[in-house]
Amino acid sequence: MPVLVMKFGGTSVANLDRIRRAAKRVGVEVAKGYDVIVIVSAMSGKTNELVGWVGETSPLYDAREYDAVVSSGENVTAGLMALTLQEMDIPARSWQGWQVPLKTTSAHSQARIEEIPPENINAKFAEGMKVAVVAGFQGISPEGRITTLGRGGSDTTAVAFAAAFDAERCDIYTDVDGVYTTDPRICGKARKLDKIAFEEMLELASLGAKVLQTRSVELAMRYKVKLRVLSSFEEQSDEAGTLVCDEEEIMESNVVNGVAYSRDEAKLTVQSVADRPGIAATIFTTLSDAGVNVDMIVQDVSEDGRTDMTFSCPTDQVARAEKALLAIKEQGELNYAELLADKDVAKVSVVGIGMRSQSGVAAKMFKVLSGEGINIKVITTSEIKISVLIDRKYMELAVQALHDAFELEKAR
Ligand code: ADP
Ligand code: ASP
Ligand code: MG
Repeated sequence: MPVLVMKFGGTSVANLDRIRRAAKRVGVEVAKGYDVIVIVSAMSGKTNELVGWVGETSPLYDAREYDAVVSSGENVTAGLMALTLQEMDIPARSWQGWQVPLKTTSAHSQARIEEIPPENINAKFAEGMKVAVVAGFQGISPEGRITTLGRGGSDTTAVAFAAAFDAERCDIYTDVDGVYTTDPRICGKARKLDKIAFEEMLELASLGAKVLQTRSVELAMRYKVKLRVLSSFEEQSDEAGTLVCDEEEIMESNVVNGVAYSRDEAKLTVQSVADRPGIAATIFTTLSDAGVNVDMIVQDVSEDGRTDMTFSCPTDQVARAEKALLAIKEQGELNYAELLADKDVAKVSVVGIGMRSQSGVAAKMFKVLSGEGINIKVITTSEIKISVLIDRKYMELAVQALHDAFELEKAR
């Protein structure tokens, strides 16, 4: 039988009624003759609640126990979805990550999938089971402990299953009807895209568009998974939603195809460090050893042999960064005046494969922001994206102004 993977995100399984609606959608595909692998998230809000409980219990928590706690939301929805399908006379069984087993690295809270042996689930399909409901987001480490795949990780579970089972398609059901030019929740003019290139989706995801987890896009690109994003709230045809596909499948494209934002960024400045070889290495090795994910970096011009080093990282890693940098200061490994942390910043980025062949995009972006009176704190660019760090209070304004200026509401 052909296999189809269907993933339902948090809002699509938010309560029993939503689970029933999702199950009906699964029933439609079963009736078409598919063996279906359903990947479920926790009910919306559940994972945040669990993460909160962990932080309250133990601020610098043991990541193994964090995973033990935060993975549990998916166990509930997997069992409920299997029961709902059974009530509809569809033979279904639920699977937690370790039962599959979905084997991962032991990088707790950020684990990567290493292998999904298909034998156990295939044996059940051979016995007449029609739907395997798998708890997303979780796996098992070589040490036999539960792991999780990072926030939003059920998308990655879904794509990895589609690759492992050679599925005909991987459908990601969510609370919007596809991938838009920017988050439709903050820009009313956002336009739904019928298709988006893997590379653009990869950039948008990694720059904050949480509609797909970055790793899921990477996997889909590598294993040639036919990946589609669509709404679980509407009746869907086979062409609905957004197809994430190869660049060659897209005929026309704007220079800029998307605007992404990330709200939880922080900017840290290490003031007055010596401007000599080895200082950047010391700072950023220390941060990486402390598990801080540094994103943007700028070094100021030096004065009297000293300079400021500024970088950005996720807001929830500021405490860890401060602790690590203070420790090397106290140990005499790094001499600096002050460490300044600004937690009220956001990153806004424009993305488009057309930037490879067209110049002037950065200049236009900076002009648009200055026209709105928005000061740019840090800039980074790559072949197909430009990102700026700005005050968080201007984030939505910046997204809307850029969406207008690059005329993203119009299709080319
Ligand atoms: P799920 O719980 O189904 O995984 P998420 O909340 O993780 O859903 O992702 C869907 C959300 O992603 C949407 O509600 C939307 O606000 C947000 N989003 C951000 N950028 C985009 C974009 N470019 N296109 C569509 N949705 C986006
Ligand atoms: N429930 C997890 C989260 O909220 C995984 C997911 O929904 O993809 O991050
Ligand atoms: Mg998600």
